[in-house]
Amino acid sequence: MRNSRDTQLLCELSRPGRRAARLPACDVPERDIADLLPTEATASSPPALPEVTEPQIVRHFVNLSTMNMSVDTHFYPLGSCTMKYNPKRNERAAAMPGFADLHPCQPEETIQGMLALLYEMQEYFQEISGLPACSLQPAAGAHGELTALLVAAAYFKDLGENRSKVLVPDNAHGTNPASAAMAGYRSITVKTTSDGFVDMADLASKLDDEVAVMMITNPSTLGLFEPHMREIADQVHARGGLIYLDGANMNAILGITRPGDWGADMQHYNPHKTFSGPHGGGGPGAGPICVIEKLAPYLPTPIVRKEDSLYALDFNLPKTIGRVRSFFGNVGVLVRAYAYIRTHGPDGLREVSENAVLNANYLLSRVKHILPVPQGNRCMHEFVASANTLKKDKGITAMDIAKRLLDYGFHAPTVYFPLTVPEAMMCEPTESESKETLDAFAEVLFRITEEDAELLHDAPHSTAVSRPDEVRAARQPVLTWAALSEAN
Ligand SMILES: *Cc1c(COP(=O)(O)O)cnc(C)c1O
Repeated sequence: MRNSRDTQLLCELSRPGRRAARLPACDVPERDIADLLPTEATASSPPALPEVTEPQIVRHFVNLSTMNMSVDTHFYPLGSCTMKYNPKRNERAAAMPGFADLHPCQPEETIQGMLALLYEMQEYFQEISGLPACSLQPAAGAHGELTALLVAAAYFKDLGENRSKVLVPDNAHGTNPASAAMAGYRSITVKTTSDGFVDMADLASKLDDEVAVMMITNPSTLGLFEPHMREIADQVHARGGLIYLDGANMNAILGITRPGDWGADMQHYNPHKTFSGPHGGGGPGAGPICVIEKLAPYLPTPIVRKEDSLYALDFNLPKTIGRVRSFFGNVGVLVRAYAYIRTHGPDGLREVSENAVLNANYLLSRVKHILPVPQGNRCMHEFVASANTLKKDKGITAMDIAKRLLDYGFHAPTVYFPLTVPEAMMCEPTESESKETLDAFAEVLFRITEEDAELLHDAPHSTAVSRPDEVRAARQPVLTWAALSEAN
């Protein structure tokens, strides 16, 4: 349903003959399109593009931009997504012509600067994870999961071992079981206890010689560090299986502890989360993976190597699983991550994580009286509060609070995930935020819980779009103004 701040679509503003720019007269011979393309590849009439003036187009997009919430305009505690501030310095680095204007088919000797950067990124990722080999190719975290599982599959095939299962804890991100299925494995759910940790008895009952990989998110999506991590790794290793670490929560442990030191055999990074790349609507991600030595021969090619003072692409990995992405992956994201890592340095990265954990604990301590956190009084970089009591006492749901927060100028936390917590509200403030912002957020949360439930059910009231039917919006997205008007 629409609120009052309507903006017309460009096609509604369109009037025949209006132009935002005029092209100079053509000064080369005109060619008939039919000479260039087969007729079945050409349209019979020009596309119906909006015809508008420059002020119309500028106002349209500037107005649209103010209808959105973004990290640049609002506090954005979307748990699991690490919506930290994206330093503008990173953007400047990525836009430098020496990076932005390269063509991936250029000869290696002309892209030494980019190759040096990618080589150093391999080294940084290896150092931060404690895992000795790296591929930068995957295009997102989920793609990194899939790539690593394919690497594991190639490794087991080589060993002549027939393993068909991947273990995934029940509070994992949905991409984990999905990646396991895409890699041809059967995903087996491992229960977690009411404390939010892996249920060791359930793990023991499901761990057998058919398990190829156990995927684990540590710190978990509940923002808890798994206390049995070593034991879990030892048990999986004892049955010949591998540990995959979902590295989406690296923001909690940078420079403090390394997954490779507690038994991870493979992991991905989300540079767009941990290393401040703009993501969500803001840009593509990347999903580099690191692995232990014995899995290195199976990584996608090319890998960047350094020989004397020259950088070169190594395609010579006879056991490689092959490419998973064109060229070298989403290198623009990696340039931004490089700028971030170099800006902070090793001590600075540790401080990032310390502050992310401090901020999350501060916010937890401020909100737990109104929104209890079932899994305790301490957290890592995020925590999952529950609106279950409020729902029972006052009929106020996590969704009501999330929507009402928009009226107060805060982006909502992640809601209804993980599924193991009823009326879940997953808050990840990140290290970017000041104490004043966290205080203001906590105060608004308190104020909302004191409001009339009826007012909350219809929230938000001040945004361009009020409360859509979530299921219908996902299944039948309305793409035209006419259809939207009709739907209302
Ligand atoms: C974000 C996230 C992923 C997936 O990463 P993408 O880069 O979005 O593909 C996987 N696991 C967890 C825990 C995440 O938060």
